[in-house]
Amino acid sequence: MELCSACIMRDADPEVGFCLQCTRARVVEHYAEEEGERARARASDWKARSLRRTVEDREHDRLRQQRHREMEKLRPHEPAPSFDPAVIALEGLHHLATLRPAAKTAQALGHLERVEEVVKRLGWGPGD
Ligand SMILES: [Zn+2]
Repeated sequence: MELCSACIMRDADPEVGFCLQCTRARVVEHYAEEEGERARARASDWKARSLRRTVEDREHDRLRQQRHREMEKLRPHEPAPSFDPAVIALEGLHHLATLRPAAKTAQALGHLERVEEVVKRLGWGPGD
């Protein structure tokens, strides 16, 4: 009988070269190592997924917040009584026309005309 090559104390099983206790210990160690590798792989997958998700989430959050800020800029003091954009735009043009005499500089007049054009676009909608 040969001695176990691990503990060198007990008789070895000639088939495996280790005693029964060391064979069992090595099997347990082997499974623990495999489980450890699987756990590390799962953790690494999870980390990769969570990083990826975080980047996507950040982009999604950024766009959502930007959209929210833009919509807040558009929130009127009072909602329009009509859904007809043309009616609302004509009201806007009326008020802009009353400002025309107050636009004393070419720059102010330029801004006023640009606002008139934007209001017309909103009232008219896309297309000809
Ligand atoms: Zn042994």
